[in-house]
Amino acid sequence: MQTVHDEIVPAKKSWSGVIKAGDILVITDLEGQQAVDFLCYDANDPADRYSATNTVKVQGNVYVGLNTVLFSDGGTALMTVIEDTVGKHDTVYGCCSNPNNLLRYGVETTESCYSNFEGALAAHGLGKDAIVPNINWFMSVPILDDGSAGVANAELKPNSHVSLRAETDVLAVLSNCPQMHNPCNGYNPSPIKVTMQRG
Ligand SMILES: [Zn+2]
Repeated sequence: MQTVHDEIVPAKKSWSGVIKAGDILVITDLEGQQAVDFLCYDANDPADRYSATNTVKVQGNVYVGLNTVLFSDGGTALMTVIEDTVGKHDTVYGCCSNPNNLLRYGVETTESCYSNFEGALAAHGLGKDAIVPNINWFMSVPILDDGSAGVANAELKPNSHVSLRAETDVLAVLSNCPQMHNPCNGYNPSPIKVTMQRG
């Protein structure tokens, strides 16, 4: 396996890139307990994008983990989780935004995963209508029998990682979450690493 790209994404920043079919994207939580909000699109038809509902329905589970296939609205297999040191990742809680920080915590914020997504997508000619319910890597959102759910303290080890094989050419967009008002980043946003491998 050859590393074709290796990049540190600083705390609170976004990243995007095209992963060629068959290549592998590795996302590493360098310091531990750092949520990474993630969207992906068919690079050759970005209108066909990651669908949380198709992904949940096809696998019959609300979490994403090893062997989960990330499906698009159109039923295309975009990526497959081929390695996962964590076990399960959130699909239902979406991204932090300035409006939902105000609604949830009563705070005015100027940085959020939504803003990061907007900026990263603009570089690919996509607008905010391309933002859909995303995957939250390394984020624990237990769902209880009564339907209640919330962000839990994940306490993940440094260098926790997921590896995703692109099943078609994929545009991946992620936000290294800047949230400071719940435990998803341990109240300490930290850098992550993005690696692309070919083999
Ligand atoms: Zn966030």
